[in-house]
Parts: sequence; C-alpha cells; structure tokens
Amino acid sequence: MKNETILVVGGAGYIGSHMVKDLLETGHKVVILDDLSTGHRDLIPGGNFIEGGLGDAALLDRIFTSNRIDAVMHFAAFALVGESVEQPLKYYQNNVSATTELLSAMVRHDVKRFIFSSTAAVYGEPLEIPITENHPCNPTNPYGASKIAVERMLQDCDSAYGLRYISLRYFNASGAHESSQIGEKHQPETHLIPLILKVATNENKNVKIFGTDYPTPDGTCIRDYIHVSDLTQAHLLSLSALMEGGKSVVYNLGNSRGYSVREVIELARKMTGHRIPVVETDRRQGDPATLIASSDKIKRELGWKPQYEDLEKIIQTAWMWHQKEAK
Ligand code: UDP
Repeated sequence: MKNETILVVGGAGYIGSHMVKDLLETGHKVVILDDLSTGHRDLIPGGNFIEGGLGDAALLDRIFTSNRIDAVMHFAAFALVGESVEQPLKYYQNNVSATTELLSAMVRHDVKRFIFSSTAAVYGEPLEIPITENHPCNPTNPYGASKIAVERMLQDCDSAYGLRYISLRYFNASGAHESSQIGEKHQPETHLIPLILKVATNENKNVKIFGTDYPTPDGTCIRDYIHVSDLTQAHLLSLSALMEGGKSVVYNLGNSRGYSVREVIELARKMTGHRIPVVETDRRQGDPATLIASSDKIKRELGWKPQYEDLEKIIQTAWMWHQKEAK
C-alpha cells in the first residue's frame, strides 16, 4: 500500500474520476478539488471531496495546510476545441490564470510534484506523422494555446522553484472504466464517440460529420483514440517517477494508430447493430486534419504499456457505459 496523498484537481470530471478510482485502488489517499462546472458529483468514486475552484487562493491555502499533499494532478481544464475558438478568454482565464493560482499555492506550500493533463492540440497542424514530443508546437486553437502556455510556465517553475512536473499530452481520450461504474459524461456532449453511441441508444437521431474535405483518404479528420484507463496508468507511472526523484519531462499518450471519423462510425455500426445515420456538415473551426501520436518515449522511459490499443475494445467499454446510462 502506498501512503502518498494526491490532490486531484478536476476529480469529478471524465478523466479525473477514473484517476481517483485508480489512485484509491492502488492505496493512495486522495483529496479532490472540483467546482462541478463541468464535473459530476456522482462520478466521484471516493476520497475527500472539496467543492471549489482551482483559482481560489484562500481555499488552496486551506487544502495545502490541512493535508500533507505529495503531488498534484491537474485535470480541471476546459477542453473543447470549437468552444475555445468562440470563447478564447474563458480558456485563458481557467486554463492559464487559474492554473497560475494553483502553481503559486504549490510553491507557497512547498509541494514540488505536478502531473499536468496536456493535449495533442499543442502541436497544431502536424508537419510529420506520427507526432513525437520534439515536433514544433504551433496550436491552431486557443485550447491548445492555453495548454502550451502552462507547459511553458511549468518549465520556468522548474528552473526557478525546483517544481518537478510531468506533462502528458493526451491524444483523443475515450472509453469508460471496465466496471462501467464511471464513464464519459459531458453536458452538453461534443465528443465523437459518445455522440455516436447516443445515436445507438436512440437518444440522438444522427451524428454530424464535421467536414468531408480534409486531405485524408475519406475526407474526414483522423484521430488517435486512447482509452481513459491507459491514460490513468500513465499518470500512476508518472507519479512513481516523480516520487523517485525523476526529472521534469513531457510525454505523448496515444496508440500510434489513426481512425477517420467515418471509420469510427463504421466500427460503431458493426458493434452496436444500429445504422447510425449521419449528416455531413461544414468543418468545425480549429480542427487539424490528422493527429497521430508516437508514444515511444513514455513506453521506453516509464514502461507504459496500453491495455486497450484496439479501438474496438475502447468503443466496447464506452458502449457498455452508455447503455447503462441510457436506462
Ligand atoms: N467530430 C465530428 N462530429 C461530432 C464531433 C466530433 O465529426 O459530432 C469530429 C471532430 O471534428 C474531430 C473528431 O471528430 O475531427 C474528434 O472530435 P472530438 O470532439 O471527439 O475530439 P477532439 O479531437 O476535439 O479532441
């Protein structure tokens, strides 16, 4: 049993709740800070939940004073590409300004280990595929820009304060916990796989395809889908690395395999037996055509081994969860 205490900021959200579950099951103590702006109380699997925002300095002081926090994991970001183009300041305010408060509180209380949820959106339009961590970062949307701003801030905090961080650049998080107790729940839902499955459960009539004129074989965007539990495993490995005195580092997390929007829909049709009608519409602003990760670095350095490399396995866990939620 580990006795580390982890502050999970955004632990009531999709990925954060899976993280809390895995931390509790691996014997960690967990404090959760979430303002429930996009999270859900009923997704929190346990731990000590505190309702509030990550930009609240007084609240952060109370949390760091009353708990001996060994590391902070930060999942509390707005993460919608399209919305970030329409409301950039909402993204800079929460994802950058509020994160500055969180990091400042960590420095005040001498908490020096941080695991950051970054994104493939930091790269922008890829110059080469698969994308390695050395690829230039030229985000095409404010969401990606807000994440790279924090990564830059983290580099500076490492130099100035000795704050050690691991930044995990997720590609497309998807799937649900194997137990079907928790899964992807956004209000409103904007992500491709849940939207497809909501057609299969007859909650929605059709799924929109955003753009069919991309420079890809079938004209639709290609993404690298990664299971949420493979993401949380990478966080556990990152935590161990930091606890053992590891240096600050950035890792990609994906499966190194891309699927077009049409391919994802086709696979879901096969798996659910539903015809899943589609409506072809214009491109969504800010979407690069293709994003596929190279995750060799984290495999090599931390021994990360994804358990759900196959998209069919990922959709299967999501489908179980959505069927349960629709009842
Ligand atoms: N997408 C789509 N229809 C939808 C939602 C998403 O065609 O209703 C596309 C979107 O343009 C992107 C891909 O599916 O190319 C994955 O989008 P999602 O929002 O799931 O994740 P993101 O890539 O923004 O992180």
